[in-house]
Amino acid sequence: MKTYRIACIPGDGIGKEVVPAGQEVLEALAQSGSGFRFEFTSFGWGGDWYRAHGKMMPDDGLDALRGMDAILFGSAGDPHIPDHVTLWGLRLKICQGFDQYANVRPTRILPGIDAPLKRCGPKDLDWVIVRENSEGEYAGVGGRAHQGHPIEVATDVSMMTRAGVERIMRFAFKLAQSRPRKQLTVVTKSNAQRHAMVMWDEIALAVSQEFPDVKWDKELVDACTARMVNRPASLDTLVATNLHADILSDLAAALAGSLGIAPTGNIDPERRYPSMFEPIHGSAFDIMGQGLANPVGTFWSCVMLLEHLGEQEAARRLMQAVEEVTADPKLHTRDLGGSAKTAEVTAAVRHRLLNR
Ligand code: NAD
Ligand code: MN
Repeated sequence: MKTYRIACIPGDGIGKEVVPAGQEVLEALAQSGSGFRFEFTSFGWGGDWYRAHGKMMPDDGLDALRGMDAILFGSAGDPHIPDHVTLWGLRLKICQGFDQYANVRPTRILPGIDAPLKRCGPKDLDWVIVRENSEGEYAGVGGRAHQGHPIEVATDVSMMTRAGVERIMRFAFKLAQSRPRKQLTVVTKSNAQRHAMVMWDEIALAVSQEFPDVKWDKELVDACTARMVNRPASLDTLVATNLHADILSDLAAALAGSLGIAPTGNIDPERRYPSMFEPIHGSAFDIMGQGLANPVGTFWSCVMLLEHLGEQEAARRLMQAVEEVTADPKLHTRDLGGSAKTAEVTAAVRHRLLNR
């Protein structure tokens, strides 16, 4: 029987609650006659590791992950360690080390979820946001000088390469082409950012020639926020820079009902390295350790993980089980206005997988 080797990195905060929940539902899928099994390896990296070792993960940590088929990640972020240390020391180290340059964020309003856009139906919001995940505003290029003096200076330089923009555009056009509407919106800001974003637009136009069957348009990022709220059905697949897509995808998650539901994949499309799947939310300090975390974002991320492994039927079964559970308000966690605990939602999904 086919065995998939999965690395589990719960990280910090509610990551420690939702990743084991994800592991449980994947285990249930495997047990219910899917024709494959999982071999999970857990890594206790994150804030606790930092307190013990002075870093978020070991220097040779990527080597331990290299041979895995995929990574299931929770969250990096600890109330007692600065956010830029936790983010760069763990999550970005993996994303950048494994050149997971495409960050893919599907958004839909799942059955039973009360979403804030009252003027549109649940079917009007069905998007995939593709985020450039390797450079741009988060390239880490910049510095500080004259620290503590009145003339202190700090820069974060957004760096875009032709190769980097070309590969994300090609990925986005291909993804748009694979969806029924074959429609892509290229998010830009080339009116104000007149160098890199103008190159971004030029490369979008050039790559579009390879995809004559994909309808595409361009939207300025600020106008795009309004369009997401006022005309959600006019969007399908979107591609945006690292920073722009970071912001747009939190808006998308909120419009779909809760940050606790939204999934993401950090993908190496060339499959040189393992790809990493995670809920988009963070450590949620306000609810951690209380069993209140919504595990649905992690379950949906597991669906994306299965799709990446080519297990389409198992992915479909898991998504169906998740949608049956969200459809029942008694199984909603507090972020959705309910009172169910993480463990109850997890048990309900497991039950549906094991009993049919
Ligand atoms: P957050 O996502 O942790 O929390 C925002 C709000 O949403 C909180 O009120 C929280 O309770 C709620 N929420 C989030 N996920 C939920 C879930 N699954 N179920 C129920 N409620 C949920 O964002 P934040 O407060 O900005 O960040 C907290 C920490 O997490 C910071 O250290 C930040 O750097 C880190 N963070 C990490 C990642 C990541 O590793 N990918 C992403 C975002 C934030
Ligand atoms: Mn974010």
